[in-house]
Amino acid sequence: MLILSNKLRNNRDTYKNTRSLVPRQPCSLSPPLYSGTRNPETGDYLPEEIPQIVLLTFDDSVNDLNKGLYADLFEKGRKNPNGCPISATFYVSHEWTDYSQVQNLYATGHEIASHTVSHSFGEQFSHRKWAREVAGQREILSAYGGVKLEDVRGMRAPFLSVGGNNMFKMLWDTNFTYDSSMPIYENRPPSWPYTLDYKLFHDCMIPPCPTRSYPGLWEVPMVMWQDLNGGRCSMGDACSNPPTADGVYKMLIKNFERHYTTNRAPFGLFYHAAWFTQPHHKEGFISFLDTIVAMDDVWIVTNWQGIQWVRNPTPLPLMHTFEPFGCNYPDRPKKCNNPKVCNLWHKSGVRYMKTCQTCPDIYPWTGKTGIRSSRIDNDVDAHE
Ligand SMILES: [Zn+2]
Repeated sequence: MLILSNKLRNNRDTYKNTRSLVPRQPCSLSPPLYSGTRNPETGDYLPEEIPQIVLLTFDDSVNDLNKGLYADLFEKGRKNPNGCPISATFYVSHEWTDYSQVQNLYATGHEIASHTVSHSFGEQFSHRKWAREVAGQREILSAYGGVKLEDVRGMRAPFLSVGGNNMFKMLWDTNFTYDSSMPIYENRPPSWPYTLDYKLFHDCMIPPCPTRSYPGLWEVPMVMWQDLNGGRCSMGDACSNPPTADGVYKMLIKNFERHYTTNRAPFGLFYHAAWFTQPHHKEGFISFLDTIVAMDDVWIVTNWQGIQWVRNPTPLPLMHTFEPFGCNYPDRPKKCNNPKVCNLWHKSGVRYMKTCQTCPDIYPWTGKTGIRSSRIDNDVDAHE
């Protein structure tokens, strides 16, 4: 019964960001039927029969400061068991972002998600302000990074400072598929991604959390790690990291195994590129990455791909033909090898914004994206 209702409920979007035919309004909360640590719809499978999904994500601007790191991670031939390149999710904030590099990441199979325009603390934001920050950044990523609007499906709040019902209602109203900003302290067994149909089953680590129901909207929770001293952290670079590459490697293995040897809920590697500027961090991480890439039951995929698996749990023998983990992107733009440089004023200085799309007349900012057809700047979609 629960299996069937999960299937019905989770059809908010299938492969596109299309809304369910009958829009459902958020309603009052029902008791939680869906516990995040139960294997979703996988009652028939044992943990060792399903893939271990690994979600590698990076936050903040994309530019020359992190280009080399991403090349070292993703352009060295690392592949999933089906032969497709490993892929990551980028939560991109606007300022200092080079949109030609966003287009390149998107063109090569990565997921581009919204990390807001101005990268501010949003716990006090109105619904309208959240829309301008999060859905506004979706329009900017599309207009200047060549990312299809419907392919920007997720968000992460800057500083993990979520905005309670104002933020989650905005995501629902503007047809986002998921948020990935809420840490979960409990990590044994780790939580699966879950929908916000029901009351949160875990403690709210950074209030305000949602208290109403947002049917079909997903949360990809940030299951906390433990460092080697027992401290917890929601992002890999917020942990107290050991001083040697070997220590970094051991800490990663220890946290990975908590997922791999229990229920195989997706394992999150949530980072900012700056952490990798310490050579022993990068060395330990790459050793770990190569260890898991060599495993035939581990898949390093985007958050969107991970959600597709949770919606349609598929056992290991069928994973080689699991379509959402494929790597054919006929609808994506080509790489942006010869970007235009748009010279634009911002905060009493000139900004050089690179793009293969049309340059705007103004430097894009919250509520003033420079996109004439913007639905967000013009309040077409956002209703409080
Ligand atoms: Zn950030």
